[in-house]
Amino acid sequence: MGITSAYLKNVYATVERRDAGESEFLQAVYEVLESLEPVVAKHPEYERYGILERLVEPERFVQFSVPWVDDSGKVQVNRGYRVQFNSAIGPYKGGLRFHPSVCISVIKFLGFEQTFKNSLTGLPMGGAKGGADFNPKGKSDGEVMRFCQSFMTELQRHIGSWTDVPAGDIGVGAREIGFLYGQYKRVRNEATGVLTGKHLTSGGSLVRKEATGYGLLYFTSEMLKSMKNEGIKGKTVVVSGSGNVAIYAIEKATQLGAKVITASDSGGYIVDKNGVNLEVLKQLKEVERGRISEYAKRVPGAEYHEGWKGVWTEKCDVALPCATQNEIDGESAAALVGNGVMAVAEGSNMSTTPEGVEKFQKSGVLFGPAKASNAGGVATSGLEMTQNSQRLSWTFEEVDAKLGQIMVNIFHNSYKAAEEYGMKGNLVAGANIAGFLKVAMAMLWQGTV
Ligand code: NDP
Repeated sequence: MGITSAYLKNVYATVERRDAGESEFLQAVYEVLESLEPVVAKHPEYERYGILERLVEPERFVQFSVPWVDDSGKVQVNRGYRVQFNSAIGPYKGGLRFHPSVCISVIKFLGFEQTFKNSLTGLPMGGAKGGADFNPKGKSDGEVMRFCQSFMTELQRHIGSWTDVPAGDIGVGAREIGFLYGQYKRVRNEATGVLTGKHLTSGGSLVRKEATGYGLLYFTSEMLKSMKNEGIKGKTVVVSGSGNVAIYAIEKATQLGAKVITASDSGGYIVDKNGVNLEVLKQLKEVERGRISEYAKRVPGAEYHEGWKGVWTEKCDVALPCATQNEIDGESAAALVGNGVMAVAEGSNMSTTPEGVEKFQKSGVLFGPAKASNAGGVATSGLEMTQNSQRLSWTFEEVDAKLGQIMVNIFHNSYKAAEEYGMKGNLVAGANIAGFLKVAMAMLWQGTV
């Protein structure tokens, strides 16, 4: 397709000049601008009010040093970030990622996408993201705690329950959220819902841990049913990753009667033709923080393969990438298509490269983009914020039912937006348009603040 309108070309050229070298951010911006061609053609007021120029420029970006003491007594220094991208429809909201690959480009692409995703949930949340180039892998609990405390000592000045509410992401799970929350409470003398993904004893919500993976399956089931008149039951599913999103995607897919045959980490992947054994996987990853290669040693009949990319050569009906950005490139997409994949839905953010997305769309494979298909995590974070404001806790069934309904709505709103703007079946465009329209309307209404 490509960007053809003079206005959007100009917006993109400015981003390219200002943010040169930020490849992930440029990729995310290009995809959104490309989808919005028919929208800006219909709404010339967006150009007059500079809506797109404002959307691609974060409202605030903070970078800070995070000094901490390792177990040998040596001082280490990492780099921390928070990008507060857009607050038109509510307080900034988005996760924190601790991984050595974290840099300005990664944080900005995630924060930019979060604005549209949060809008799609129908809840009042603006877009943000943050993190650090810290690797929790191999660190002791004490080291992780000291790092989190130092990180929060700075971050607390920029966040608050009505300002900006962070959550987890890669490398930030229940343990890290606990240390971050404890430090915020101590420094600010406030027990408030400033983070989501909290422990149930400290204002957390039931279903938050499961939400992104479960939501991914609710979305995928609705996509299969509405667009192919098919169910997930009986399908063979390939999942990548073995972290929070992957584990609960595997759990819900299995509960719905599908057979998940893979899981992976950055070292390699396992194939278990009998269906992944969740008890073993959870023990290995959630309790022992071990490597996926161990799974094959514990489960008879399971095989381990070195290298994570090979997971996409396994034959399946449905593929659910749940590890990291750009994990499915054109070559992997071609392998999946060659093996007859019917649907792909992104659990990880921007899992697929533009070449991969094009391959799926041209081959008639149903494709659910992350902004829509993995929005269940942040949606349930939104429900956690509501419960914190009410000082109440809802039951598992109540939260799960709300999550299910939100995911069904996201699918239909994305589908309808694509159809209305002449791109029927293109959920990438539909999710971008549906997410954008609400944010743009709020920005117009609020003036150039
Ligand atoms: P976790 O840290 O729990 O798990 C991440 C998994 O992905 C691990 O198996 C990890 O393997 C693997 N992985 C990470 N980086 C790479 C890499 N560069 N190459 C190959 N494998 C890699 O993270 P989450 O499950 O929380 O997040 C996974 C994805 O889902 C991310 O894209 C995140 O942004 C997205 N997401 C998460 C949400 C949430 O609620 N947690 C909400 C919405 C989206 P290893 O251990 O070897 O690093």
